[in-house]
Amino acid sequence: MDKHRILILGGTTEARSLAARLAGDDRFDTTLSLAGRTADPREQPVPVRIGGFGGAEGLARHLETEQVDLLIDATHPFAARISRNAAEASARSGKPLLALRRPTWESKEGDLWIRVASVAEAVRRLPETPTRVFLAIGRQEAYQFSARPEHAYLVRSVDPVTPPLDVPDARYVLACGPFGLDDELELLRGEEIGLIVAKNSGGSATHAKIEAARALSIPVIMVERQEPPGVPSVPTVEAALAHVAHLFSGERKRGV
Ligand code: NAP
Repeated sequence: MDKHRILILGGTTEARSLAARLAGDDRFDTTLSLAGRTADPREQPVPVRIGGFGGAEGLARHLETEQVDLLIDATHPFAARISRNAAEASARSGKPLLALRRPTWESKEGDLWIRVASVAEAVRRLPETPTRVFLAIGRQEAYQFSARPEHAYLVRSVDPVTPPLDVPDARYVLACGPFGLDDELELLRGEEIGLIVAKNSGGSATHAKIEAARALSIPVIMVERQEPPGVPSVPTVEAALAHVAHLFSGERKRGV
């Protein structure tokens, strides 16, 4: 009896957790797809394929040739291109798509957020006065801050920022969450940070810097998400499992 084939676009903790839950269910044949960006990826609970598909068209072709029954976009909320490709590939191939997206962080009293739509806008909204800026936006878009060499930067990322920023004062911290509140308070105080640039990723692993910023009254330039419209979306792994169960309930398996 054939199983339902599920392809998870991953690279996140949620994708890994979802894969682990589906791995134990013999109704499904689950594969996880990774971009191949991380130098030392963690071990995964299901078979993994690595590397791009060749745009939306390539992904649509892959869904057809691999006879995928459901595509789940569990990529990072700021992996915008692959999410657009997933939406387009689903439309082209007629294969259903589900997005698993953690809810965004909401600002609370005491937060000093400046909301922007892109990293480019964050660069433009930096103050005129030289400031010690904590860049917590990952490594891929950090280079854009080379346009503002008057500021001092502390850049934190999982993998190294290469090439480094073209500015006179930048230091780099390699670290992978989860981060705790006490450590974040110590970092912000110790480095005399005057401004944070963050992405509204949601989730708990990297939220402590937002709480620390609130406690210390440090402003945060918050880059908001740009997600493709019209894609069914769930906020948790549990909700994704429920959606999958519902989608395939009552449906006869292929080849039966
Ligand atoms: P992106 O800019 O949206 O995607 C760029 C290209 O990378 C895509 O067009 C696709 O190539 C390929 N790609 C991305 N994710 C893929 C996947 N899961 N499987 C196969 N190909 C994939 O993506 P990104 O921001 O570089 O992120 C890459 C990966 O890192 C994603 O898996 C994401 O979940 C993870 N990640 C991203 C961030 C972030 O802040 N952006 C943070 C943590 C983890 P083709 O067009 O050739 O198919």
